This record gives sequence, structure tokens and C-alpha cells, in this order.
Amino acid sequence: MPDVFDRALGAYLGFAIGDALGATVEFMRPREIVAQYGVHRDIIGGGWLKLARGQVTDDTTMSLALGDALLQGGSPALRQHASGDDTLIRRIGDAYLRWFKNKPVDCGNTCRRGITRYLREGTLEGPYSPGDGGNGALMRNLPAVLVTLGDDAAFARLSIAQARLTHHHPLSDAATLGLGRLLVSLLNGMSHSTCQQWAAQWVSNNPAFNFTPYRGYATAYVVDTVQTVLHYLMLHEDFEAALIATVNQGDDADTTGALVGMLAGARCGAAQLPQRWLQRLKPEMVLAITDQTSGLLALAGELCVLAPHQPH
Ligand code: MN
Ligand code: MN
Repeated sequence: MPDVFDRALGAYLGFAIGDALGATVEFMRPREIVAQYGVHRDIIGGGWLKLARGQVTDDTTMSLALGDALLQGGSPALRQHASGDDTLIRRIGDAYLRWFKNKPVDCGNTCRRGITRYLREGTLEGPYSPGDGGNGALMRNLPAVLVTLGDDAAFARLSIAQARLTHHHPLSDAATLGLGRLLVSLLNGMSHSTCQQWAAQWVSNNPAFNFTPYRGYATAYVVDTVQTVLHYLMLHEDFEAALIATVNQGDDADTTGALVGMLAGARCGAAQLPQRWLQRLKPEMVLAITDQTSGLLALAGELCVLAPHQPH
């Protein structure tokens, strides 16, 4: 059985693999993918962003920016946030701003709007907006899950705060919490069949995300994204099968791919990730992800040891 570190590393590397694989066919229709690639199954770069082979996009680099901000302040910053201090969230806002100023290969419209608002007004969230239902906050939440592992209240508080820097929408919030909690369960070794039961239960509480029957929409609208991710994650237990099926659905394929790669990667662990894909990622990217995963888990361990006992 893979241990938590191997599962967490599987999640983060799986995320980057899904991003790099899916980016080639981002914004394509399934029919166009068939015409051009048959079945798209290799990390070859290209796509509308004209990527180098193995290059990742904003999904992975913005996650790394969040992870860096979380590591910067260490456990004192996280404990201060738990007691109502917003220094940590400002640090995260600053990290997103730095990321944006470094001219990322791509940036979603809602992320750009939120980061610009933070720059101009210094506010940590905007008012609720019906236009904020994109998947950009959900997409980058992996580091917040790792650093709060073992403390659900801290997970929820941090996830919503980082999300609201750019997205203020109840479905974005619900998706960020839902897939975050699914990731926690998978990191703790939840089986595929229990995972299927979990999903059925979760969509009965959150009916907007019901994915049966699957409608075949894989856009950046958080409802379409989550339905696509859950549909293919539940349909295929195998990492490779789940990821290939997901990205060939096209549309926001780098983001649906990244999220399926994250969840399926947690399920199988880093040691089981397909080597042919892992070897395509840039070595410096694999190193940054590995360093960040161990740093975030170490911090989570520190916080759990220091936290007062919480009855379940
Ligand atoms: Mn992207
Ligand atoms: Mn995308």
C-alpha cells in the first residue's frame, strides 16, 4: 500500500501530467480531436498555447505559487490564519500577483479579474458574481489540501479564503470543498468502490454536480468541469485510462485532465504513475513538485501535533 507521501506526490505529479497532456487539446471539440489525433494519448506539447513538449500551463504554475506562499510563513502563519488573521491570505494574494506579473503562459479571465482587483483595491474577495462560476479556484487548491491534512476545519477555511481571492460563487466554493475532501479521502487510501459511493452521496447533497447521465460538457464552468472529472474518475479505476478518456473530451482539457490526474494519482500513488508520461515532464518541474509536496506534508504534520485534540 502506498503511504501518504507517495499518494500526495502521485496527486501533484498526476496533476502536472494531466495539465501537460490535456493542454494539447484544450478548447478542441471531441470530434476535432479524433480527426487530428485519433485518440490523444501522448504528451507532445503544441495546442493553442504552442507549448513545448512536457510544458505545463497556469493550472500547475498557479498551484505552485499557492504552495510557495503556504510554505513561506510556515506553521505560525497558518495558526494565525486559524485565529482570524488575514496575513496569510495577503501573502497568497501577493504570490498570485507575482505569478501574474511573471507573464504565465495562460491566465483565466476570472483569475485575471480577481488578481487585478486585489492589486488595485487590496481586497481579499470581491462581491458575489454570477460570472465567477469558473473552475480557476478549484483548479489550484491542491497545496491547501496537503498543508491542512488532518484538520478539516482548517482545510475549509483556507480553501475558501484562497478561492475567494479570485472567485466568489457558491458553486465554485462547493466544488473546491467537495473535490478537496475527495482528495483527502483518496490520500487516506479510500478504495475505488468507496470512492464511487462517496461521489453518489456527494452529488445527492450537491445536485448541481450530478454527472449521471453524463452530458458530455467539459468547459471551464465549474459544474461542467466537476461532472467531467467525477464521470471519468468513477468510470475508470486505472490512472491512464481515466486520464486519456478525460482529455479526449476536449474543451478545458488541461484543467479536467489536471484534476483527474490529481485524484487518480492520489488513488494509485506516484510509484504507479505511467513512466512514459512522468519522463516527459521537465526535471525541474518534478523537483519543484516533489520539494513542495514534502514541505507541505511536513507542515501539516507539525500543525496536527501542535493542534489541540479534536474529537471526531
Ligand atoms: Mn491551463
Ligand atoms: Mn484550462
